[in-house]
This record gives sequence, C-alpha cells and structure tokens, in this order.
Amino acid sequence: MSEFTKDEMSTFDRVSATLKGEPTDRICIGWLGRKETGLGLPQVTVADVVRDKNGILLYKGIKALTEKFKPDIITVTTYTTVEAVAIGTKDKYFKDQLPAPVEYVIKSPEDLDRVHIPDPRVDGDLPCIYNALRKVVRDFGNYAPISAGTVGPFSVAARIRGLWDISFDIMRRPWFVHDLLKFATDACINIIEGWQSAGATGFTSGAGSETVLSPEHFRQFCVPYERQYLQSAKKMGFLSYSRHICSGPSADLVVDDMTRFGLDEMPTLVWGYYKDAATMAQKKKLFAEFSPCVAVGGTFRASDQLAYWSPSEIEAEVNRLLETCYPGGKYVHVADCCIPPATPLENIEAFVISAKKYRPK
Ligand SMILES: [Zn+2]
Repeated sequence: MSEFTKDEMSTFDRVSATLKGEPTDRICIGWLGRKETGLGLPQVTVADVVRDKNGILLYKGIKALTEKFKPDIITVTTYTTVEAVAIGTKDKYFKDQLPAPVEYVIKSPEDLDRVHIPDPRVDGDLPCIYNALRKVVRDFGNYAPISAGTVGPFSVAARIRGLWDISFDIMRRPWFVHDLLKFATDACINIIEGWQSAGATGFTSGAGSETVLSPEHFRQFCVPYERQYLQSAKKMGFLSYSRHICSGPSADLVVDDMTRFGLDEMPTLVWGYYKDAATMAQKKKLFAEFSPCVAVGGTFRASDQLAYWSPSEIEAEVNRLLETCYPGGKYVHVADCCIPPATPLENIEAFVISAKKYRPK
C-alpha cells in the first residue's frame, strides 16, 4: 500500500481533520511528554531542566523529541505542581523524576489573603515554560499546533492547599473551597494569557486531583470553574482545548461530566485514562453528542507499560488498542498520562512508529 508509506497531509490538516472526525492519511500522534524533561545534554537532570529560567534545556528536549518522532501536537510544559510552586507551595526536586510537593502554601483560610496571582514571566519555575514556549513557537510554529496550559482550577487549588486538606474542606467548609477555586481560576487564566502572548495556539487543562472527587462533587467544585477557564480561553482566541483525565479512583465516572464544560464548537481532545479500549470507544460516541469536534485518546499506560515493556510488547498493545478505538477517527494516539522522563527511547519509538504504520483492517 504505497500511498501509506509517507505522510500526505500537513500536521495542521491532520489534527483538524482528526478532531472533526474527517478522514486522515494516518493516525494523529499526540504529545510525547514529559519525556522531554529527561532528554537534553548528558549530565543534565530533570531538576536542572524544570528550573532553568531561560527554558533552553526544555526547548532542547522538545526539539530532540519533535525532530526524532515528528508528533502532530507539541505541548510545552514541565511538571504538574508548577503553578502551585509559583504561588508558594514548596516542592522537592529530583534527578530523574518530576518534582513533588512537600509543603503547601495555604495552611489556613487567612493564608489565601497573603498569596498573589502568579506572573508566568517571572514567578517560580513558570519562566522556564514561557521562554521555552517562545523558542518552540519560533522553530516549530509552522510545523505543528503548539499548546500550553495549566493543571486547571481544581488541581491548582488542590496543589496550593494539599489534597487531604481540600478533601476535608469540601466536607466541612465548602465556602472556603469555593474561595480557593476562585483564586485558582484567576491564576490559571492569568497564566494562559502569558502562554498566549508567547505564541501558544492551544491550551491545556487537567491533572489527577479532580479524579478523587465523586461525580456530585465534581459537578460542584470542578465543572463551574473549568467552564470559566475554558470560556476565558475561547475569548482570548485559543483555537483548541486539550483536557486530561488522570487515573484517579473516579476517573471513568467523572469523565462523563466533562461534557458539561461547554465544549460547543471548540476543537477538543479529551485524553488520558479510560480504563480500557472499549470504554474509550464508547466515550468517543458520548462526546460526539455534545460537540462536533471532540476526539479522545489515551489508555496506553505510560508509567508501567510504556516505561518497562519491550518494544515488541508495546507494538502489539498499540495494535490491539487501535483496532477498537481508531475506527471512525476522532482518535489521537497518546499515552494515558505523563511519559516518565527515564522511559527508554526505543520504547517511545515502538509506540510512535507502530501507530504511524497502523491502517484499519
Ligand atoms: Zn495524568
């Protein structure tokens, strides 16, 4: 089938057609992060990459991945507490994995009066993303859609307060959770304004914290604020929305309520954890009822399958997954969550190449 041996569509046309469910020359390859934080120069650690205010190391990691694997979507980001750290949460940094929080900035309701909305050009480790984004847009802006974002209002609130404490607050003093969420929503909106000025055309949202909520609490504490974040992004002129579902205990339940975010005509990718391929195929149909341009992707487990399996096992699993999820399009080939920085390159190669070669039977 010689017509399938090379790419016939531009990256932009492929992404656009994929989200709308129109035919494409091959599967759309999504974000390959956060592998980029583990590439770069020898002797460079993940801690060096994510704290480099000039964004040069992150840019080099993204450039290396983009040139090697030619994904269809580029996302510029570092770690999932980066917004909270810019607000005052303290993280521990590691050599070969992403930073993790050790002390949350909001210890009591009064602390909320002492923090300020972060400026992505100067605060915490956000300048790394801002400056890398400008370089990535300069070099790859004509090649692929480039997005950047935040973990979204609920996850930012959980990362400045702590997941245990915000769970306590939800049960005992919900008014305070709403105060936290108003602040977190303003922070997310201000951050993506910075990303837009640096040249991002797509914006992203979502992390694990909201997938510990019950569907009822998700509707109360996540949906209204995510809607506001999404509406602001639309007004700013962002062209696409990438929404992550992380693999928390309620992930496959709350995903249904993501239809309440107000997706309308916004080209959207809802990616991440869908439990299994059949569930993802079924949710693809569900989203199609709410918006004409929502694609799904994910389910391939990054933290164990992609990081530790052999390339041939990965290839077999990619084929198995695509047989169920690819028919009818509206599918982006992406892992279920961040690809660990230390994942072997040959595994990512098997993950990407087997999908690019795949054709429906
Ligand atoms: Zn995740």
